[in-house]
Amino acid sequence: MSSNYNKFSLQTPWLSKSGVLTYDFCPRKFYLKKIEDYDLPESDALQKGIKFHNWIDELFDNIDKSALINGETTIREEYKRHFPDDFEAIDKQEVDLYTNFIEMEEERWEETENKEDFFPIKTEEFLSDEDLMFHGAYDRLDKYGEEDGEDVHIVYDYKTGSYKNYRESNYRFQLCGYRHLIHKNYDKYNVKYGGIIFPKEKRIWTEELKTRSINAFEDRVKRTRDSILDRDFSKTGYCKYCDFDIYCR
Ligand code: SF4
Repeated sequence: MSSNYNKFSLQTPWLSKSGVLTYDFCPRKFYLKKIEDYDLPESDALQKGIKFHNWIDELFDNIDKSALINGETTIREEYKRHFPDDFEAIDKQEVDLYTNFIEMEEERWEETENKEDFFPIKTEEFLSDEDLMFHGAYDRLDKYGEEDGEDVHIVYDYKTGSYKNYRESNYRFQLCGYRHLIHKNYDKYNVKYGGIIFPKEKRIWTEELKTRSINAFEDRVKRTRDSILDRDFSKTGYCKYCDFDIYCR
């Protein structure tokens, strides 16, 4: 299994999903971020996202699975019991994030026939593919069900922001990337589906990852790398939506 982090450079042009999406947004922004190493201070939204991801990551390691299965505790009790000791929500939106997620998990618990399948197989795993020079960390890998007598799996990402219809192709790209990394590193999983969980809106966007999308993922990574190596760092972004405008000349 390959899980080393390799920093991007023009000599070792490793890419991640966020590198490709940044380049697609604006090649100049990619240059400023990845080559000139400019960065922004963490916003409140980013801090909330990191805190939420850390909580979920530790949650599944720590909850008492047997007590849940035996009915000695509930999802609500168990999830609340594992809030970080120093947890303090910044605002109501942040409270809603956790409350909504717990409600979504209660519904999922009710709907899951075999309670063992409720728990993720893996959470927050960083993987890499040396051949494609691509790496990334997915949030959660679950059993989705059985098809033709074989287990099939689903990979999930959590987003603390809102679902955006115009970002669906990016969601698909990201999930195909995680699928690619899981298949490259493990023989035993068949990741046929992908999902993005938006607790803020109590919404899950799920899709079967089709061959066309899987091929498009690899093509997009290679095409982006070729453009980077051709030193195409043109200013072709949407400047009015860009948080790097303070660095850009
Ligand atoms: S301000 Fe405009 S040109 Fe500069 S990095 Fe941002 S999107 Fe690109």
